[in-house]
Amino acid sequence: MSSALLEQLIEAFRVLPGVGQKSAQRMAYHVLERERAGGQRLSNALAAAIEQVGHCTRCRDFSETEVCATCASAARDAHLLCAVESPADRLAIEQATGYRGLYFVLQGRLSPLDGIGPRELGLDGLGARLAEGEVQELIIATNPTVEGEATAHYLAQLARQHGVRPSRLAHGVPLGGELEYVDRGTLSHAFGSRSEMGP
Ligand SMILES: [Zn+2]
Repeated sequence: MSSALLEQLIEAFRVLPGVGQKSAQRMAYHVLERERAGGQRLSNALAAAIEQVGHCTRCRDFSETEVCATCASAARDAHLLCAVESPADRLAIEQATGYRGLYFVLQGRLSPLDGIGPRELGLDGLGARLAEGEVQELIIATNPTVEGEATAHYLAQLARQHGVRPSRLAHGVPLGGELEYVDRGTLSHAFGSRSEMGP
């Protein structure tokens, strides 16, 4: 390698998930050989997003404004709140179902071994939200993994503490699967036939 900058670029690409040394090299060569304009756009978009995209103070989803467009919309049903693990899961539900309620994005799942507890998921904020009294049903759409299920049970308890009805998506989402990768029909059906969670 004859360029320190090229080496730096390759190393920088490796921060992306699933990108190892070989892929990072291909990306760096591709940008420099054939796609300098696109590379510049990527660089600008990255810098702007990192600088300006934060989290909505209501739902924790990504947002450039303090309160995101969905949370600010008067057209959404504030009696329904759907808890998801990630912005990608939120998007999957939004696209697959006709859901018109609001969301709460955990940005993770309970995982004590990784040091991710209720505080890291903003559950104090969720509790405060439920205590406001407007939410009637908490739709728990965490993934059907071991940690997702544990998170679901925690959320159900939190909901009941505030007199809110917890519900869980119907089975059909494959066990261990991530909502983000489930086909639309299956997700739509699982969402539509959700049922109340027992204690
Ligand atoms: Zn929001």
